[in-house]
Amino acid sequence: MEQTLSIIKPDATKKMVIGKIIDRFETNGLRIAAIKKIQLSESDAKAFYSVHKERPFYNDLVKFMISAPVVVMVLEGQDAVKKNRDLMGATNPKEAQKGTIRADFAENIDANAVHGSDSLENAKNEIGFFFSKKEIC
Ligand code: ADP
Ligand code: MG
Repeated sequence: MEQTLSIIKPDATKKMVIGKIIDRFETNGLRIAAIKKIQLSESDAKAFYSVHKERPFYNDLVKFMISAPVVVMVLEGQDAVKKNRDLMGATNPKEAQKGTIRADFAENIDANAVHGSDSLENAKNEIGFFFSKKEIC
C-alpha cells in the first residue's frame, strides 16, 4: 500500500466541487486516510512549493494557493502516487485527457484544481508537511 498527498486547490473549493473530486478518488480505489480543509498562509504556500522558487510562475502560484481555502488529503491505495497523477491529468487542463479531474474541473494551468505528489519520496515529505502520524488512519 502506498500513500500520496492530494490538495484540492482554491479554484475547486470556490466552485464547490470538493465532493465530486473526492468521489473520483474513492471510486477509483484511493482511500481517504487523512483530510482537512485549511487556509494556507503565504509562508505555508512558499514553503510547500519551494522546489519551484526559481520558476517564473512561483509568485503567482503562491498568491493563487492562498486565495481561498484548500482541502489537503492523504490518499492510500495500490500505486497511489501514479494512480492519483493519472486521475488528475496533465498540468495544463487544455492538454489533460477527457475524464480526468483537470479536464473536467479546471480552467487553465494557473488554476488547475488539484495537486498530487509526483514521487513516493516527495509524497512522504508532503504528507509530513501537513499531517502528524495520529491524523493518518
Ligand atoms: P503539477 O501540479 O502537475 O505537478 P508542477 O509541479 O510542474 O505541476 O507545477 C506546480 C504547479 O505550478 C502547477 O500545478 C500549476 O498550477 C503551476 N504551474 C506549472 N507550470 C506552470 C506554467 N508554465 N505557468 C503557470 N503555472 C504553472
Ligand atoms: Mg508537481
